[in-house]
Amino acid sequence: MDCCGSPFDCLIFDLDDTLYSSKLGIAEALRKNIDDFLVEKCGFAENKASTLRVELFKTYGSSLAGLRALGYDIDADDYHSFVHGRLPYDLIKPDGQLRNLLCSIPQRKIIFTNSDRVHAIKVLKRLGLEDCFDQIICFETMNPNLSKSMRPDEFPVLLKPSMDAMKIALQAANVDPRRTLFLDDNARNVAAGKAMGLQTVLVGKPMKSKEADYVLENVNKLAQAIPEIWVIGEDNASTAPSINRIRSELDSILATTPVGA
Ligand SMILES: [Mg+2]
Repeated sequence: MDCCGSPFDCLIFDLDDTLYSSKLGIAEALRKNIDDFLVEKCGFAENKASTLRVELFKTYGSSLAGLRALGYDIDADDYHSFVHGRLPYDLIKPDGQLRNLLCSIPQRKIIFTNSDRVHAIKVLKRLGLEDCFDQIICFETMNPNLSKSMRPDEFPVLLKPSMDAMKIALQAANVDPRRTLFLDDNARNVAAGKAMGLQTVLVGKPMKSKEADYVLENVNKLAQAIPEIWVIGEDNASTAPSINRIRSELDSILATTPVGA
């Protein structure tokens, strides 16, 4: 797309804890569901589940990836319907402010999440953003062969922040990383994005990480922090409300200024 003037052709957004607050209770419920899965489906002791979840996440990127790497034959759809299917989605409310913000961004917008597609669509619908994105890159995009595997370790589960997952995502998005803005709440994902040549935004954190080009307290602060997204060439019509506002203010100033003053 022609966004001449702006340094970005495309914006890639993480979903969970990036497009809505990590404090809603969804992340907490997810952690509890994963612990329950480790106990009920894999037979781990209840008092070990939380520690194991954290270890699997650190080493393999997710509990599902870790369990399969360790030889547990866990079906990805079963795992996702257990840990996501019972989340309290009603805690996620429509975000009209974010919708307006996204609608004002002229560039391509893509979701890039480690979550499965069903979860991604449910969350976007709850937020009222289901029609705001051009593409969803999700668990299924990064792991197309998993359901065909004969052994759990045949195809390693690929997720952010693995470089292989990042490569698949950028190929699916078909973008020039140097002209793409990547927003994520996870500093390790941001670091992986930076290593791929993306321009990076750490979301929901008070301080910038080393690999983040920008930091946002929350995604709704995007226009204040990175106004260059909306910079366009003189020949193009503006769709950015801030630029329209500036223009209408200029127009009204000009209208009240006597000719020749
Ligand atoms: Mg996230």
